[in-house]
Amino acid sequence: MQVGAAMELLRPLLADITVDGLSLVGEATAEDLGLSEDDAVILGPLAVSLDLTNVEGLVAVTGVLEGTIVRECVRCLKKYEDPLAFSVRAAFVPEPKSAPRHPKRVDSRKTSAKVVEAEPEEEPDDQYQYQGNQLELAPMLREHIILSVPMQPLCSDDCLGLCARCGKNLNEGPCQCAEELPIPRVRVIQAINRKPGGSSAS
Ligand SMILES: [Zn+2]
Ligand SMILES: [Zn+2]
Repeated sequence: MQVGAAMELLRPLLADITVDGLSLVGEATAEDLGLSEDDAVILGPLAVSLDLTNVEGLVAVTGVLEGTIVRECVRCLKKYEDPLAFSVRAAFVPEPKSAPRHPKRVDSRKTSAKVVEAEPEEEPDDQYQYQGNQLELAPMLREHIILSVPMQPLCSDDCLGLCARCGKNLNEGPCQCAEELPIPRVRVIQAINRKPGGSSAS
C-alpha cells in the first residue's frame, strides 16, 4: 500500500499497518515535518520512503530520507547545498495511559532486560510513543534531520575560509593582506619604548 498525501504519509493509522506491513512513499516539506529554519533549511521537499511493521502494538519504522539541506560553512560562512540520504530507524510504542507524567516511558515487555540496569534517561533515543490509533511520524523524522546536522559543516574539506584581516573569501582567490608587511611598525614601537641608559656596561 502506498500513500501520497503528506498528511497521510506522516500520520498513518495503526489499522493500516497490517501483518504485511505498510509502505509509505511520498514527499514531506519542512512545514509538514515541523522543521524551523533554526533546525535545518531544506531545499524543496524531502523524499520519504518508510516501511512500518506492527508486532503486538510495537511499530517498527525503517526507511530512507532523501533531500538537499542548505548549510552554512563554518569557515567561509557561505551557504552550500548538502545532498543527503540517511536511513531512518525508530520504534513506536503505545503511550501508557496511566503515566502521563512520564511521556517517554517505554513498553517494559520489550526492553525489560535492559531497563533493569539502565537509568531512565538512557533509554534508546529512537523509541517514540503514539496515542490512540495513529502514529505521528513528523517529530521522529524531524529529529533524524536535526541529528544529521554536522557539528562543523564545511562547504568542502579543503575550504580556505575567510581572511582574518580583510574578511575576503580565500576560496575565491588570495587577498592583498599577505603583501602588506606589518613587522616594521612593531619594530618602531619597540625602539621608542626602549629605556635609555639600559646598556651602559661598555
Ligand atoms: Zn567554506
Ligand atoms: Zn585579507
